Amino acid sequence: MTIAHALGFPRIGAQRELKFAVEAFWRGEASEAELSAVGSTLRRRHWAWQKEAGLDVVAVGDFAWYDQMLNTAALLGALPGRFGFDAKALSLKQYFELGRGNAGQPAMEMTKWFDTNYHYIVPELDAATAFDGGVDWLFYEIDEARSQGHAVKPVLVGPLTFLYLSKTKSAGFDKLDLVNKIVPAYRRILEKLAARGIEWVQIDEPILALELSADWQAAFAPVYRELGAAGVKLLLATYFDSVVEHSALINALPVAGVHIDLVRAPAQLDALLPGWPADKILSAGVIDGRNIWAADLSAKLGQLEAAKARLGDKLWVASSCSLLHSPVDLDSEDQLDAELKSWLAFAKQKLGEIAVLKRALESGRDAVAAELAASDAAARSRATSRRIHNAAVGTRLAGLSDADSARSNAYEQRAAAQRAWLKLPLLPTTTIGSFPQTKDIRAARAAFKRGELAEANYVAAMQAEIRLAVEKQEALGLDVPVHGEAERNDMVEYFGEQLAGFAFTRFGWVQSYGSRCVKPPVIFGDVSRPTPMTVEWSRYAQSLTAKPMKGMLTGPVTILQWSFVRDDQPRRDTALQIALAIRDEVVDLEAAGIKVIQIDEPAFREGLPLKRSDWDAYLEWAGRAFRVSASGVVDSTQIHTHMCYSEFNDILPAIAAMDADVITIETSRSDMELLEAFGEFAYPNEIGPGVYDIHSPRVPPVDEMLRLIAKALDVVPAERLWINPDCGLKTRGWPETEAALANMLAATREARAAIAEGRKLVVAAGSAYKAHAHSGDCGCNG
Ligand code: GLN
Ligand code: ZN
Repeated sequence: MTIAHALGFPRIGAQRELKFAVEAFWRGEASEAELSAVGSTLRRRHWAWQKEAGLDVVAVGDFAWYDQMLNTAALLGALPGRFGFDAKALSLKQYFELGRGNAGQPAMEMTKWFDTNYHYIVPELDAATAFDGGVDWLFYEIDEARSQGHAVKPVLVGPLTFLYLSKTKSAGFDKLDLVNKIVPAYRRILEKLAARGIEWVQIDEPILALELSADWQAAFAPVYRELGAAGVKLLLATYFDSVVEHSALINALPVAGVHIDLVRAPAQLDALLPGWPADKILSAGVIDGRNIWAADLSAKLGQLEAAKARLGDKLWVASSCSLLHSPVDLDSEDQLDAELKSWLAFAKQKLGEIAVLKRALESGRDAVAAELAASDAAARSRATSRRIHNAAVGTRLAGLSDADSARSNAYEQRAAAQRAWLKLPLLPTTTIGSFPQTKDIRAARAAFKRGELAEANYVAAMQAEIRLAVEKQEALGLDVPVHGEAERNDMVEYFGEQLAGFAFTRFGWVQSYGSRCVKPPVIFGDVSRPTPMTVEWSRYAQSLTAKPMKGMLTGPVTILQWSFVRDDQPRRDTALQIALAIRDEVVDLEAAGIKVIQIDEPAFREGLPLKRSDWDAYLEWAGRAFRVSASGVVDSTQIHTHMCYSEFNDILPAIAAMDADVITIETSRSDMELLEAFGEFAYPNEIGPGVYDIHSPRVPPVDEMLRLIAKALDVVPAERLWINPDCGLKTRGWPETEAALANMLAATREARAAIAEGRKLVVAAGSAYKAHAHSGDCGCNG
């Protein structure tokens, strides 16, 4: 029998029920029992959907109150000792404290799950970490699903992926040393599952999609020899990229089946099939777990039928990865038109697609003729729709020349032209763009969207905010002011709403981390800019000051990265279309007298492919897209870019190739460590390394910023150094923002004086501020 299954299902709920329940629990407004009841309801519903759709097993173990890696640590008993918690008796309150911190301990760190926008809690391991077992939630949920009449497939994060993604606290200690301890823990769990009569366990090892070093590759065979003998059948799940380079290793593992991602890496099927071991199941991940497009079922079937001819019943059908990364239910969308909706499928609809493919494989295409006809019709309309295909955009893209992706002259020449009119002091000061998004601002926007506030009144309210921001910056003495971005809800949505080719859902939420969800725009068609988007706001702001107002835009790569991107053309083409739209805006800003323009690219680095061997190709087109957006202006117009919390060391040449006149980056939390790479590389243009952390309301004292400025001056010549905070200030309040900026300007004045007098900056030793882990509540969407 062809088994149909999903690797996992989103847990947040179609109406974000989990988010609201968890947050009510945090506020003390819901009891643990009430929260548990919401979890049970969601699991019951999601399992029922899987069964009703026609899947053969339901995924259990994909549910998490906060994060699946944190759940795995709690299941294994591998919690950081610093909290002093007993993993076997862990309460929900303590579980959340691990993810969010408590009065005595900062939260465990959080980082991106591979190349998705989901963030997981990073396990903290050291030589003393025991894996003596912890909470029994998984077993409880298995019993729960069974009591509801489901065939259960437990899902676990595999031991090697768990270790690989964790961080070690003790120095000189190799994570792989813990293999001997973690394997018995997994073995005990698998044996417990076997004792419960579980047949199949999905064990996720997505690190197999990475280019693994020899020691990590070598770890697989002994680990799975041990786990393969635990009495359950293992389905080793890989996803997010091809595993062909590890095929010899995988084929030899004593696992009963392997899942591969045929959406991200469709070509691996043909590469793997000829050598596929006769005894292994192949689970074909053909339904995209990371996007919102309905599958072209006929095309998918073509691929599957070829595999079926070889594998027979050993072929399973599945989502490419967990559906965690797609929104929950398209049926909730009552404001999308029927045509657009026919092109989409959210997690619940994807379950149906998987089941249709299974039925077609088992009973022939005729058995699902109606479903295939509907899918064919949607595919045809996507291929030809005038809403998607705009000939003018195609023509413009085809006509792009090399000259369009480069400024006319080199940085030195541009810098001279810019200095001539900007006449900025040494160490010019600026901010990253946004100022506090106050309650009033949000209330005005919400009222405007509901139609309760007339457009003229909304504009007047935003102008008042801009005036306030400009006055405050004048009073503080910032050299290059900004308008403050009061009118923007979000740095991508704001532009998406004004660009052609974008659509917005009402409930297209995806979990970002913990209780935080994002609702990315949908890029469904060719992108173009019908009218200027920011020019009037910037023009107004400039009218209020004699200083050079900095115009603020979001860059093409970031808009691409933080949207659901169409799958019917290469990402690079979509990036270039967005780049052309941003270029038009840059040119219009320049014509309106805004001659300092920042194009934010905080997501530039996160677009990097998982495999290093694919990096150059990405950096090539991403860099080109940025330059296309930035190169329509004359030498004297100064282009800034901004990136937050990026590790640049390995991509500095590509960052330099973006050729922005000024780049501002986040450096204060790493104590300017990042900047050393810029120094070593001799970054050629101007840099503004952030001198204070905007992620907390703390007001850093003058000497602390002075110390960072002194460190920056060690690597960047004073003529090319800017002074600014780490990121935008939209999540801060005004009092701390003004106090921190006043200190930043005092530190700058002192640094300028020291340089003018030729004295070395004297800074108090050891005044470094130990930054907290990224909490995600900053201006950075990442
Ligand atoms: N200009 C944006 C802001 O200040 C940049 C935010 C970001 O880097 N994520 O809010
Ligand atoms: Zn930032």
